[in-house]
Amino acid sequence: MRRASVFALFALLVACTTEVTVEGGDHDEDEDVFLSDPDLPDRMLFAAGATVGDVARTACSTAGVKPLAQQLLAEVNCLRPDTLTSIASIPGVSLGAGALPQLNVGAARGLRAANRGEAITISSSTRATAQQYVLYYWYQHGRCTSVVSLAAKPGRSNHESGVAIDVPSYSAWKSRLTAQGFRWLGSSDVVHFDYQGAGAVDIRSLAVKAFQRLWNRNHPSDRIAEDGVWGDATASRMDRSPAGGFAIGPSCSGDPTPTPTPTPTTVSLTGVIYEGSDTSARVAGATVTVGARSTTASADGVYTLTGLPTGAVTITASKSGYTTATVDRVLATGVDNWGSVSLTRASGATGRLVGVIYRGTDATARIAGATVRLSTGQTATADASGLYTFPAVAAGAVTITASKTGFTTRSVTRTIAAATENWGSVGLSTGAALIDECGDVTAAGTCDGAIVSHCDGGRLVQVDCAASGQTCGIDADEGYADCQ
Ligand SMILES: [Zn+2]
Repeated sequence: MRRASVFALFALLVACTTEVTVEGGDHDEDEDVFLSDPDLPDRMLFAAGATVGDVARTACSTAGVKPLAQQLLAEVNCLRPDTLTSIASIPGVSLGAGALPQLNVGAARGLRAANRGEAITISSSTRATAQQYVLYYWYQHGRCTSVVSLAAKPGRSNHESGVAIDVPSYSAWKSRLTAQGFRWLGSSDVVHFDYQGAGAVDIRSLAVKAFQRLWNRNHPSDRIAEDGVWGDATASRMDRSPAGGFAIGPSCSGDPTPTPTPTPTTVSLTGVIYEGSDTSARVAGATVTVGARSTTASADGVYTLTGLPTGAVTITASKSGYTTATVDRVLATGVDNWGSVSLTRASGATGRLVGVIYRGTDATARIAGATVRLSTGQTATADASGLYTFPAVAAGAVTITASKTGFTTRSVTRTIAAATENWGSVGLSTGAALIDECGDVTAAGTCDGAIVSHCDGGRLVQVDCAASGQTCGIDADEGYADCQ
């Protein structure tokens, strides 16, 4: 068999190369020296999920990584189209059982011109970086020494460039191949020819880049540099890569720009809801809405919304009795986002006003039938319980004046809030005459804490009821404040 004689030649070669081989891989870096065909299919079966490293550590054939190798060469073709072509259909060319059929376009043309249809066996042509990794692993770790005695580092073999062929019957083809641009490597690797004619390109770094791209496409969260440089980062990924090929294969349309996972950034927004142009005139209980989030302003008119997106937002504040208003803000991180909103009372807004008219300071001592007049001109009469009611009073400040014969007319001021119930009770003192006698004193017949104040002969008298162990109260019959 021809192969047997080739191996015998290889055996001689070993003797030669061991003389010239220097340790540490410091040999001609383009060189691989085999004692038998490393790509020949073996009987090793690898379970699905086996890695390139598994093949390197257990097999003595690169056949296990062939599916991945084919993906890598296809990716190379995507990166640089029309660089590699198939030599399987060149008349007379037989490929070794483990050889991949791709070859540099110029080298293929040269091969076709050299063999002119005559039978020629190519034991090895283009080799993918996955295969080179396995070979280099054996060489480095002293594995499979009956197969390989020298292997170039991944990314350094001319077989990865697609310009090299190994021809077992090299002596028969040497002159024809060299005439077509092939260079015979000589005694250090007798079967090896490098094509150096037209169209020869060094795509070794492209071969490494093809792997880096495939790895990244399949491991978006463990990306490595796509620099075509073989280093530890690339080597460790190659070791872990699936020998049977990646789930996501070669892509000539380029990698889609990876959509960066948006980091959810939310911010909070604070503001006050106030009336008109006076920011201290707070509007309590307004509903504040931004997008899908809303809240209710506090009694101080303050609101805070959290979990808002950054960017432009519209803040809407609404409350019954007010015209709904909006302001636009641009929310950002790292700053205090403020968005206060001014509300204007809706025209015609009214609130309900109720109150009781009572005697002195005792709100339970009700005065029935008192007349209640508002500064709006509206009037009402307190009922038997002293209760008066105005169903609709214009929103805003209003003066409430209560009067009844025998009592001093008195006024209080309230601010009517729209669409709600407002209270405005008034305490009346008896005896307009007493007030007259006391002049400007309006506190006659009232209690202030334990102090009772009343008029006596036109003079204001104040008595501290606490001194006599009593408390100030209103005499229910007479309507006077007195110590009781
Ligand atoms: Zn070779």
